[in-house]
Amino acid sequence: MKDERRAQLTAVYREARGCPRCPELASTRTQVVFGAGNADADLMFVGEAPGAKEDEQGIPFVGAAGKLLDQLLASVGLARWDVFIANVLKCRPPGNRDPLPGEIENCSDYLMRQVELIQPRVICTLGNFSTKLLRGDPTGISRLHGQVEILVIGARAVRLYPLFHPAAALYTRSLLETLQADFARLPALLALDPPEQPEPAAPPEPAVPEPALAVPDPAPAVTDPLPSEPLGPAVREPVDREEPDGRQLGLF
Ligand code: URA
Repeated sequence: MKDERRAQLTAVYREARGCPRCPELASTRTQVVFGAGNADADLMFVGEAPGAKEDEQGIPFVGAAGKLLDQLLASVGLARWDVFIANVLKCRPPGNRDPLPGEIENCSDYLMRQVELIQPRVICTLGNFSTKLLRGDPTGISRLHGQVEILVIGARAVRLYPLFHPAAALYTRSLLETLQADFARLPALLALDPPEQPEPAAPPEPAVPEPALAVPDPAPAVTDPLPSEPLGPAVREPVDREEPDGRQLGLF
């Protein structure tokens, strides 16, 4: 089951890495930064968007904010490969500008599929963008940090635990102290029983056949006068001879 979910996650990555949904981002990125870590993690972090270093290396949180995230993880006895780290946007916005609403909308289904496949018990949103997206509400991180709430994301119930973004804590001492204190509560949160999962959606009702009516004479067969044409130019899948395996993707 775990291997199956990892394989499905790798399939989502393969789809995402050629994503054309945001033309500006697709034309300026070096690569898609899908996310990395343990594909079966109990704890997932969701940041904002890749920066220059992440765009270069293809791995989230490898710059200065990532170093702080590593230290915070170590402070509660965790390492990167124990958790899964992703972002709201999988592509770097040029000049590190804020994600645009249309970009967030285009990208959110990758994040939802990551949550559904990884099945974390706890999701820490880092900063405003991921907190607002996953809560579906504009309340900001200053009001919400450190407050746990059970939410259904996609089809999964998770404990959402908003935290300040490590990049903000790099420059403001008081935010760093708050982030450290919020982080210290993570082990207790992870020790709780997993949230109860919602009932799976009922399968659609089978169509009720219409009672038979008087059957009219069959209509004469109409032959299509046009030769059938392909619907567009044939698109050849590029052959990727260096398909990375899960480990090269940073998936464990
Ligand atoms: N900030 C983010 O939100 N994500 C990263 O991957 C790096 C910095």
